[in-house]
Amino acid sequence: MRCIYCDKEKKRESLSSLFGKEDLLCTECRKKLPLDRKILHMEDFDVETFYRYEGFFSSLLLQYKECYDEALKDVFLYDLKDYIALRYHGYALAYVPGSSKKTKERGFLPLRGIFSSLGMREVKGLSLKEERIQEGKSREERMKMSANILYEGPKEKKVLIVDDVITTGSSVLGMFRALHPFTQKLRVLCLSRAGEKENAFK
Ligand SMILES: [Zn+2]
Repeated sequence: MRCIYCDKEKKRESLSSLFGKEDLLCTECRKKLPLDRKILHMEDFDVETFYRYEGFFSSLLLQYKECYDEALKDVFLYDLKDYIALRYHGYALAYVPGSSKKTKERGFLPLRGIFSSLGMREVKGLSLKEERIQEGKSREERMKMSANILYEGPKEKKVLIVDDVITTGSSVLGMFRALHPFTQKLRVLCLSRAGEKENAFK
């Protein structure tokens, strides 16, 4: 089997490959993607994160999202699946809704591609109040996202909000505010965190 990123032939010697958990990346590429788990403390909730949004991680995520490279979807949760499934047992997943135009252009919802392998139920009934594309917006405009998400689904017991990158935190804050009145337990997970220094969270 070849590495999905650099196409080098992989050695089949790791124990995990024997147990059917073969990494799509070769050892060298995986090394460039170090896990760095960190809990961010927002005003109303905590956010669990696993990578810094920089270097190899950010280029892989961009390649996956912007180049429609669906084959990369299982790279990000490799080695995290069991941990997440255990820690968030019984939770349903809530994805930050994408703008419908973008979703259509891509033909796949990137977040769902990454997280669906966990086998967790998905919360339906989330939408954007207004179509708004986040990228390229000012911080002030992005903060408006926090009042821009609508939930019209049933009451839920345990919900895990998931996103790929946390920057200002406005998207997950919007999700939190929309879902909070309808859920008993609400937690937040973002694969990665961007620009730690200049952000609101500590
Ligand atoms: Zn490689």
